Formats: sequence, structure tokens, C-alpha cells
Amino acid sequence: MTQGEQCADLELLFLIADVSLGSSWYTASATSPVRCGELQSPAVTALTDLLQGHPASESLGCASPWCVEELGAVMASDTLVQELKARIRELEEELSTVQSKHESHRNKIEKMSAEVVDSNPYSRLMALKRMGIVEDYEKIRSFTVAVVGVGGVGSVTAEMLTRCGIGKLLLFDYDKVELANMNRLFFQPHQAGLSKVEAAEHTLRNINPDVQFEVHNYNITTIENFQHFMDRISKGGLKEGEPVDLVLSCVDNFEARMAINTACNELGQIWMESGVSENAVSGHIQLIKPGETACFACAPPLVVAANIDEKTLKRAGVCAASLPTTMGVVAGILVQNVLKYLLNFGTVSFYLGYNAMQDYFPTMSMKPNPSCSDRYCVQRQEEFKLKEAAKPKPEIVVKEETPVVHEENEWGIELVSEVSEEELKEASGPVPDLPEGITVAYTIPVTKPTSGATVEDSDQSLEELMAQMKNM
Ligand SMILES: [Zn+2]
Repeated sequence: MTQGEQCADLELLFLIADVSLGSSWYTASATSPVRCGELQSPAVTALTDLLQGHPASESLGCASPWCVEELGAVMASDTLVQELKARIRELEEELSTVQSKHESHRNKIEKMSAEVVDSNPYSRLMALKRMGIVEDYEKIRSFTVAVVGVGGVGSVTAEMLTRCGIGKLLLFDYDKVELANMNRLFFQPHQAGLSKVEAAEHTLRNINPDVQFEVHNYNITTIENFQHFMDRISKGGLKEGEPVDLVLSCVDNFEARMAINTACNELGQIWMESGVSENAVSGHIQLIKPGETACFACAPPLVVAANIDEKTLKRAGVCAASLPTTMGVVAGILVQNVLKYLLNFGTVSFYLGYNAMQDYFPTMSMKPNPSCSDRYCVQRQEEFKLKEAAKPKPEIVVKEETPVVHEENEWGIELVSEVSEEELKEASGPVPDLPEGITVAYTIPVTKPTSGATVEDSDQSLEELMAQMKNM
């Protein structure tokens, strides 16, 4: 029997199995000859293995794919039918579990609602408006963020943005998920071997099907990919052709950071940098506005400044340490600042460090270097200066303070000053000479002479006065 014939025969066996389960395969196939490869039952592939070498399949010697007599003979083999039935049931169960795992548990939501019901995934986020923190939370759906590097920080960052309901996420990474990544958050052991971007997209789509995803499984530092990367951050917004709103660097090497820096300086794209130290106990985030704040090349780390190939720095057998805690903290402060920047609330940090040993969070901001090695950075600095000079001088608007009025004051209670303005003026003593902006809370009252008869000063000493009294 040739391999093709054997395959056709095995497919007949699957037909029998389907028949015994009441499938319509039998009727469909009985009217037309069956050839190898035509049948597409989900059980076919798996059952091929099971039937290899089975005595019943050996007994099928017929070269004709549809031989009723032989079918009958095999049908008579009860044990085989029972075995097949059981195996099919098993496979179907397995299939439905896998499908339910991969299928999204909810449909897309057209409009974010603030309705407080258990089924609304956005109720807690929309409550930020009611609490007076964010003016228009739903605006988050109009933003696109690119995350470069989907490792310990990037994957958690992407998850937080997905859960917050960001409009679109672009993910860039060329690594595969490894079991060595399991000390961090997000990825799971069963994803080992998959590309990080694909595994991440799968998980994230399941968490929030409202978010649009675009993933790129490549290294952005190669010339060809760099061009594509530039193209996607400048055109891959929610509306194709528009730039993304923010680029987040979550990479673990200087070469990739420099590539992001170069791209963002050229495009004038605002981005945020993040990093965790090799010893896993410190990290930082940094907001970079080309031309306005220092770029990554303005004050380069020694490795970059000295043009050292960082690959040569990696000592053989010594691997960088990492902690899920530090990476989680850095991802948290990164996304916190992304939300503040996009939704316009609070103060966005230009640089925020995290020292885990002392629980110290230093902040600072850095002006760009006029002699930066990146020519686009210098160009953006010139543009920024011109833009600033063209701006009208801001007028100092004195805000009138609105008096505090209690909404509910059914007793009509009022606060009245116990002393009049005049009394207050009269009671005030001399005001010390104070620098501008400092006022006194109170002054020492001017001492008034006490009432009653007073004696004139005389030059006599105390002894002389006592002698006079004795003589009286
Ligand atoms: Zn620069």
C-alpha cells in the first residue's frame, strides 16, 4: 500500500468515527469519492497518530477510497469505534478549552460609560472625572502610544495602558519569551518560545478588545528596520498617516535608546525614556521634548560618549539582575506620567529617579546642550527658541478668590470679625521691614502710657531719696 492510499484509508476510519457520532460527514462523502487531503476534520491530524499501526487500519487494504464492504468490516470492530469515540470526545473538549482561552470574554464597547455596574470595565476610570482629577477621561481612546521593548518594564507598561483603555498601542521587540523571564510580571511559562510582541498582543487583546494593536517583531537598530520604525511612529497613529502621541522607551541597552533618540529628534516626537539598573535596585523615567529638554545625546552616558561597543562590556557568565518589584515600580511611575501627560492632570516629571535601597525618589529637569552631537537636537533647540520668543508675554492674572459658601447652612451662621478695621489699625504696632512676598501675621501693639499721676524724673540717687523720706 502506498503512503497516499494508506492516508485515504485512515481518513475513511475517521469518517466512520464521525458517522458513529452522528456527523454529516458520512452523507456528504458517500456521494462523492474521497481523496487523501480533502477531508478537514479537526480530529484528523491527531487521530492519524493514534491509528498508525492499529490492526483495524492494517485490515483496510482497499485502494478504492469508498468501499462499502470494507467499511462494514471496520464498523464491526466495536473496540475501535469505542476508542475513536472516546478520543474524539477528549479532543473536542481540549479544543473548546483552548478556544475559550483564546476568545475574548467581552465584545467591544462603543462608548465609555461612567455607569457604576459590575459589568462596566471603565466605571472606576471614569470616576476620575467625578473626583475632579481628570476633566475628560474618555479622551484616552483618542491616543496612540508606541512601546519599544516589551520586556520587564515594557510588557507591564503595555498592560497598564491596555487596561486604562488607550486607543492604540504599537509594540516593538525582537526577543522571544524565555523561562528566564518568569521572575518578572506579565508573561507566562506556556508562552516560552513565542515572540514577545505576539504573545503580548494575544494577552492584551483578551484583556481589552477595545484597544487597537500593531506589533513589529524586529530590531529597530538595523538600518532597514530603523526606517520602518520611523515610518510607523510618524504615521501609525489611530488615523493612519498621523503620528503617534508618545513613544516610550522600555529597552535594556544604549544602542536602542540612541536609535529612539535619533528618530524622535528628527521627527520632533515627544518621548519618555525608562530604565532599571543592572543590579535591579534603582531605576528612572525621563520625559524628553526635542529642543526643550535635554535629549539622550545631550548628556550621554560614558559608554555612548566614548563610542564603546556595549556588547564588549557584557562579561561572560555574568548576567544582569532583575526584580519584578523594581520593574513594576518603574513601569508604574512611567505610565502614571504618561496618563498625566496625555490627560492633562497633575505635574509631569521631567526626570524621576527611584532608589530602592533608600526609597528615595530624586527629581530634576535638564536643559538641552547647545553643542549636542545630534544635529536634529540642535535644530529643534533653535526652533524652540524662536517659538518661545514669538510667544506673547504672559500677563499676570490675579485670581479673585471666591468666598467659601457652605451649601447647606440652614441656621444662617455667619463669621463676623470681633474687631473693626479701625480697631485693628489702631492696635497695630510698627511693621518690620520685610522682603517682598512676606507679610506679618500680627504686630506688637504700641505701648500706651498707663493712666494716673506720674512723677517727674530727678537726678537724685535712691539713697538720697530714702534719706529724704526718713527726715519727713
Ligand atoms: Zn541633544
